[in-house]
Amino acid sequence: MHEMSLTESIVEIAVETARKEGAERVTRVVVDVGQLSHVEPEALEFCFAAVARGTIVEGARLEVARVPGAGFCSDCGKTVAIAERFSPCPECGGFRVQMTAGDELKVREMEIA
Ligand SMILES: [Zn+2]
Repeated sequence: MHEMSLTESIVEIAVETARKEGAERVTRVVVDVGQLSHVEPEALEFCFAAVARGTIVEGARLEVARVPGAGFCSDCGKTVAIAERFSPCPECGGFRVQMTAGDELKVREMEIA
């Protein structure tokens, strides 16, 4: 499962960051998940609990923040909202839309104790 390896890197980052800060526990992890990244937040939450078990991240709350898709259209020069990776520009119908947001998956914030 795709989400499993993604979750592993999230937990890894959380563990490393917590160690650097000298923390004993991680209580909350906020991740940005782009709407175009095809990651299921529910699957991520499910994997998170399993992967975090036995680490200092165990029991932490995972919060998924959805980042909407956006792209820059070089035909009309506008930044537009896009729902699909290769969808045409909603302003002019052009296909030269370069995705600028929406496929990220990163740890934005965490709380440690
Ligand atoms: Zn356009």
